Amino acid sequence: MYTTPYINGAPLEAPPASFIDVINPASRRPFSKVLMARPEHMTSAIDAAYAAKDIWGRTLAAERELILQRAADVLEGARQEVVDLLIDEAGSTFGKAQFEVSFTVNMLRAVSGEARRIQGNVMPADVPGMMSIAIRRPLGVVAGIAPFNFPLILATKKVCLAIAAGNTFVLKPSEETSLVGLKIAEIFQKAGLPPGVLNVVPGDGPTVGPVLLTDPRVRLVSFTGSTAVGKMIAVECAKHGKKVILELGGKSPLIVLKDADLDYAVATACFGIFIHQGQICMAGSRIIVEAPIYEAFLERFVAKAKTLKVGDPRDPHTVIGPLIRSSQCGLIDGKIKESVAVGARVLLGGTHEGNFYHPTVIADVKPGMAAFRDELFGPVAAVVRAQDADHALKLANDTAYGLSSAVLTNDLQLAMKFALELEAGMVHINGPTVHDEATVPFGGVKDSGNGREGGHWSMDELTETKWITIQLGRRQYPF
Ligand code: NAD
Repeated sequence: MYTTPYINGAPLEAPPASFIDVINPASRRPFSKVLMARPEHMTSAIDAAYAAKDIWGRTLAAERELILQRAADVLEGARQEVVDLLIDEAGSTFGKAQFEVSFTVNMLRAVSGEARRIQGNVMPADVPGMMSIAIRRPLGVVAGIAPFNFPLILATKKVCLAIAAGNTFVLKPSEETSLVGLKIAEIFQKAGLPPGVLNVVPGDGPTVGPVLLTDPRVRLVSFTGSTAVGKMIAVECAKHGKKVILELGGKSPLIVLKDADLDYAVATACFGIFIHQGQICMAGSRIIVEAPIYEAFLERFVAKAKTLKVGDPRDPHTVIGPLIRSSQCGLIDGKIKESVAVGARVLLGGTHEGNFYHPTVIADVKPGMAAFRDELFGPVAAVVRAQDADHALKLANDTAYGLSSAVLTNDLQLAMKFALELEAGMVHINGPTVHDEATVPFGGVKDSGNGREGGHWSMDELTETKWITIQLGRRQYPF
């Protein structure tokens, strides 16, 4: 297992004294060690990516495709080891860790074909005899900054899309999931990716991140994380003339209309807010229920949430594992207290033991309350009463965020009205807010970001268009 920055095809040599402990969020005890990079390591990683970019940019699409397919096979072969790491370092439950590996294997296979599908155009020209062509070229060096919650999926997504498009890459994983980031380097190394094409530099964001944002050789920064950090990154990228892709936070609404099947609505709401303890950007954290079914929904929802097993993440029956860090529990306590002070009711939970926050249901949540407004990133469902469908739509859009959304109804006319009018990058009809696939345009609007990550949408973002003309015969000039 690599425990030091992976630069130019090899992990750094470093004296043991310079390593820090890696803490298991469930036990809150150290289980491994890692070397956090210094700014000069980040510069070396950019040097390596820059040196590799011309050769990698010229590789055949078939070669890039094959490496991504091999990476999928290597990851599948290392499943147990990676699942263990996702549990120990990221606080994943057994089921979430297995899902994360399966999703990533499938994603690598699905994205491999994108390398072949990068397309240009031939356009009509305004000059007789001229051919006018637009082609897509790799950007060169791309940087990725990733969050802790789905550390394998989200970082690998950035890596595989960028290298499929012919770019070289520097990845800064979350400081909370450095080992998972380094595991990605190991997988691609075993898959035969040449040195320098992928460099992984674990480190503290404010310490090493600025190197990526200011170095002119980095052409695009692909960021997934909180809105506050994302906005700061966008400003820095603008100052240095870089493209930026932002995949940020959310406060996604799940709307339950009065004709919805109640048991299905309860199951959908539970999955959407309690998977990975609510630490998901797309979490259905505002559950907006039409008045005629509000009380009945609450009763069944609380009853189901009570049955979710909290505890040992290695137990396959556990649904609620630990939050990533203790301070998150304190932050959630504070937001619940604030909301209760202005009229919200805690029907379940609102407490924690160690880093284990109990599934929590808060009712009568209204706009303006912290539980309505703020991303809590924990297993906290804020349930909101809507007078009717129009009110539900208004409540759903009453947020700074705009990532995912969902509506449960069998009324097709109404479902499509919601689909068109919800201010969100993604709308799911009769499903949860939590859903992702490798080739879809994943992303948000408003404070949830501006990029789209997945499939050919990413190929457009990760390449630049070059205009080429060819004059056939002689062109006539005015003088
Ligand atoms: P975070 O913003 O705290 O950290 C994200 C990354 O930014 C980390 O790698 C961190 O080291 C880095 N960073 C922090 N300060 C930096 C700086 N000054 N310069 C450069 N890099 C810096 O987010 P987190 O706590 O890891 O993740 C949770 C957040 O991510 C939530 O808001 C969640 O909604 C969001 N998220 C969004 C998506 C999406 O696709 N939209 C997916 C997952 C998570």
